[in-house]
Amino acid sequence: MKIECIRTHHIRCHLKTPFGFSQWFYDQRNVLLVQIIGEGGIEGWGECYGPADVVQACVEKFYAPRLLGQTFQGTDSLWQLMWRASLDFARGGVMMSAMSGIDMALWDLNGKRLGVSVSELMGGRQRDRVPCYATGMYYLDQPEEQLLETLVAEGVQYAEQGYRAMKIKVGKNLPFDEAFCRALREALPATTLMADSNHAFDFPEAVRIGRVLDELSYHWFEEPLSPEHEHLYARLQEKLDLAIAGGECEQTRFGYQRFIAAGGVHLIQPDLAYCGGPSEALKIRAIASANGVNCIPHVWGTQLNLAAATHFLATAYPEPGRAEEKNLLLEYDRTENPLRDELYSVCVDVNGGDAYVPEAPGLGVTVNPDLLPEFVVTQTECRI
Ligand code: MG
Repeated sequence: MKIECIRTHHIRCHLKTPFGFSQWFYDQRNVLLVQIIGEGGIEGWGECYGPADVVQACVEKFYAPRLLGQTFQGTDSLWQLMWRASLDFARGGVMMSAMSGIDMALWDLNGKRLGVSVSELMGGRQRDRVPCYATGMYYLDQPEEQLLETLVAEGVQYAEQGYRAMKIKVGKNLPFDEAFCRALREALPATTLMADSNHAFDFPEAVRIGRVLDELSYHWFEEPLSPEHEHLYARLQEKLDLAIAGGECEQTRFGYQRFIAAGGVHLIQPDLAYCGGPSEALKIRAIASANGVNCIPHVWGTQLNLAAATHFLATAYPEPGRAEEKNLLLEYDRTENPLRDELYSVCVDVNGGDAYVPEAPGLGVTVNPDLLPEFVVTQTECRI
């Protein structure tokens, strides 16, 4: 069962309505898909988070030549092979993003080989559906007064669609952030709300917004501070009651070990298309569990990453366990993204605020080969 061919597909779409958050505005979306074909024509797909054209070179030029001809059954041994090949100059960053997409494709491939879903491969699903939270309410090019109304109306619409939880962006400016947090809470008194600054705040600003979130019973405060200032997380936590989430910029068990050890974080958010792939996410989750920290994937991108995160959460165990377990929520990005919503012939079924765990072998989602050329920027192929 050897790997015979590795293809990459850099796909892109332009957005009808650009949207922004604390760091920049998006007017297009770019993703790198990895397709691995094994002996007998069996294939697996994965995706990478990060600059698609750069990550594409990492897959094509570096990892693919080392993987061709290897047996594809051993996801852990292939991960180690890649890790050792690039450790000396790439312990993370875009090389790890490339490894993540390859690893995801290998899980998909092995699920298909064995005729089981990725959640069965991960140790068995504990639930058939996973509650989602809507990620949305990004900034639009509108005056602030109008923008605030637009964003609150968007949140109300999610609630009407069945979402019992949702996450907003903060980090625009403090007066707007505070007004937005208050207005949304007023409109949705019973909804589980979270706020994400994408590391926009310095310490006093994070304390100020964190106290507003506390007062309004928000559920978590995500990336309140820079990932480079991890020592400040513990200090912030001493001043706040709500849970602090973070870590979507982090990678590998080693990175998360350091992040958790610094203290102050209750919820880590590895992205399966970036942290090292499903193989590494399972190890990261074990480290989190051992430290009494919960682990919920960051999800951005297309159906492959969404499916991987859904399988991961189907197998999740909240810390601590109890009879009426707390929900570990799946992030469901609701911003405009044709790569997620138009490219696939089989998608993760999300309905009424819940994602139904795919049952088909592998990840259980299918790229539509007829539509792929519409979105492709560059493709590469390496074969034996
Ligand atoms: Mg985030």
